[in-house]
Amino acid sequence: MAEAQTKETHGFQTEVRKLLDLMIHSLYSNKEIFLRELISNASDAADKLRFEALSDDALYEGDGELKVRVSFDRDARTITLRDNGIGMTREEIAANLGTIARSGTRRFFESLTGDSAKDAQLIGQFGVGFYSCFIVSDRVTVTSRRAGRPASEGVRWESSGEGEFTVETVEVEARGTEVVLHLREEDEFLDRYRLRSIVRKYSDHVSIPILMPGEGKAADKDDESRDDEGKDEDEGRDEETINAATALWTRNKSEIGDDDYKGFYKHVSHDFEDPLAWVHSRVEGTLEYSVLLFIPTRTPFDLWDRNVRRGVKLYVRRVFIMDDAEHLMPAYLRFVRGVIDSADLPLNISREILQENRQIQSIRAGSVKRVLDLLAGLAKDEPDKYATFWEQFGRVLKEGVVEDDKNREQVAKLLRFASTRDADDAQTVS
Ligand code: ADP
Repeated sequence: MAEAQTKETHGFQTEVRKLLDLMIHSLYSNKEIFLRELISNASDAADKLRFEALSDDALYEGDGELKVRVSFDRDARTITLRDNGIGMTREEIAANLGTIARSGTRRFFESLTGDSAKDAQLIGQFGVGFYSCFIVSDRVTVTSRRAGRPASEGVRWESSGEGEFTVETVEVEARGTEVVLHLREEDEFLDRYRLRSIVRKYSDHVSIPILMPGEGKAADKDDESRDDEGKDEDEGRDEETINAATALWTRNKSEIGDDDYKGFYKHVSHDFEDPLAWVHSRVEGTLEYSVLLFIPTRTPFDLWDRNVRRGVKLYVRRVFIMDDAEHLMPAYLRFVRGVIDSADLPLNISREILQENRQIQSIRAGSVKRVLDLLAGLAKDEPDKYATFWEQFGRVLKEGVVEDDKNREQVAKLLRFASTRDADDAQTVS
């Protein structure tokens, strides 16, 4: 396809332009989240590769150790993230990094207030994703090659975040994606301790290793310029893994602190705020599975959109299977975020099979019960938190009385109403 070799310029979708503009103006006080977003994309790319490789092992191309490297160059004023995940084709990169495919996008723009503090919250919930790199960069270069494709089908995407981006076909040896951020002025991020502490703060529980060049490496302080071909060929030499890199839910509860749970919640939910409550348990018996489920503190902007993908991720023996696992939570619990990991389901389970699968049905029933128990516990022992919960999610939970025959009574007990005896309208009476 000779014509595809040429460099093309595309305009960003209108929504992307708006988002970029908004982000740069509302999130300046929270700049560092770009790292969390990019690492989270790298980790998703690793998950996708693992999943596709289940049916085609050749996609690993002999390199099955999935990881992401973070490095920086003080002289060039760049930060580079490189992953060896699924990568993108030319078509994919133009679509993925040019539009916002998420449902609820329109609603999101409608719900903006113009107050940058409030909007920053909303943007956080919307999940700014890749575009957050323009908070700190005036130019971003993404070079990628999809797993299983020849080096000649590599692609380079570049943009200054101002309405347009270019795409061109280039040779790319290594599978995966490299993102180079050309920073605006600030070099606050061109510091290994600063970078390392941000990565730890947001991404400690990403399940692939995040590597940084060790102390004393060229990327650190000496001004000897590195050959900037985009590939750090210093693998294995003096590199440091800076995250825990274990799936949090597989660890023993006794080893996990509240901060670990909170950090993990922010990673899976892209929320800025701490969760209100969570439940973590391992079920053993005829079926074996782990659940780690969270109740957010605040209503996400798309809560009323019953079609949005639900926030519970399905894993099978630590392999990520799918995101919008709507079969795992009923619609009236659509605010729940987290992870369910089954030891028994087949790895190649499809969406269609999920619907009918009896194991899934019983995992779902067990998970719903855990969430309802968690809420009952809050109502009993932490009435203040429960009041917050009710204020944010009460109207959604009410749907459960109609929707969930089996748990109707338990849901009904969780409902709160305003009493005619009180002067205010607070809904406090069970
Ligand atoms: P989200 O991650 O919420 O879908 P993003 O704006 O962060 O939104 O990314 C858009 C899409 O670009 C992703 O869904 C993914 O398909 C693709 N993408 C981004 N980063 C990478 C990466 N490192 N490797 C492969 N694909 C990526």
